[in-house]
Amino acid sequence: MTVFACACCGATLTVPVARVPLPAHADAHVNPHSGHELLGVLMEPGTYAVRPYAYGPPFHPWAEVGEVEAAARGVYAPVYSVPYGPAGAVAVASGDVRGTVFIPDRLVGCLGLNGGAGPNVACAQCGTAVATYVDDCECWQAVWLDPRVVRSVPGEPATDPPLGWETLRRCRPGTPPVQPDGRWDSRWEAAAAVALAQLLAASGGAPVIVPDGPVADAFRGALDVLLPPGPAARALALAGPGLPAVSADIALVPQHPQTGEHWPQVGAVTAVPLAWDTWAFLAFHRDRDRRIVQGGGSLRDEIHRDYPPAPLPTARTFHLDRSLFLFTLARLPEVRLPWLRAIYDRLNLRNGPAPF
Ligand SMILES: [Zn+2]
Repeated sequence: MTVFACACCGATLTVPVARVPLPAHADAHVNPHSGHELLGVLMEPGTYAVRPYAYGPPFHPWAEVGEVEAAARGVYAPVYSVPYGPAGAVAVASGDVRGTVFIPDRLVGCLGLNGGAGPNVACAQCGTAVATYVDDCECWQAVWLDPRVVRSVPGEPATDPPLGWETLRRCRPGTPPVQPDGRWDSRWEAAAAVALAQLLAASGGAPVIVPDGPVADAFRGALDVLLPPGPAARALALAGPGLPAVSADIALVPQHPQTGEHWPQVGAVTAVPLAWDTWAFLAFHRDRDRRIVQGGGSLRDEIHRDYPPAPLPTARTFHLDRSLFLFTLARLPEVRLPWLRAIYDRLNLRNGPAPF
């Protein structure tokens, strides 16, 4: 466990928290369904995650920064503006923060706070601006600790060890892609967008053969549009706990929701990680449906009462988060390869084609 403290005066700023992987939707601010939707809480209580890339103001135009300087900041393809905010910001749930006060003249936003005037939370003891509280429209609610003025202090070891892969498989069946009101879940759209960028890089520019089923529902349309047909196709498959070993060229493997480890895929397969909750739904939800059908008779009615079928989407087509896809692709070093850069440039045009 870790406690975060003010680097200026040493005051404690959080309760003990355990590190987990950064959710794929942490910076998914653009929701195509609504302009002012208030989203949920980004971090579970008692956890923290680190944003590995530079983020936030000040911003400098791409033309002014240039490719070499942008690459040094982790941006490898043209973007409208390059963020000069720090890498390494720490996300925690607001309920886990201690000893802070808001900075009144920095509480700007639309229906909530967005940090547009700079860090809006100060250390209550010394007044240093230490964090940004965000809960504005289309933003996941979190407190982002500024790594330049906050330090981590090792705490007591966690009392419970991380769940094993088999335990996860039994106890955490995954998140459906459709919300109860029929809208596609923006966390799903974000996870799929990040994975699609990594799948593209793993394809080497060759077409990708996607097996029928939920993986095809999520990725095949976009991959078929982005990668031209050709003879040297690469095969994609799911790999992970509870699934048979695969012989595909590219494996979609789960990322452990506590440790951040990827399923240890063996062999020469290129592994692309996917958040556990998304991966588990792709891997197992059809089996769950089959088990319900096999229940039969009155037992089936009871199962449907307790485990109702996933809702159907009100919009037929699954849309990946295009903005997050481009954001992720611009931060993959492979985007400097000519074939991948050409795909990026085609999609990055304002009012350009929108294949998904
Ligand atoms: Zn302080």
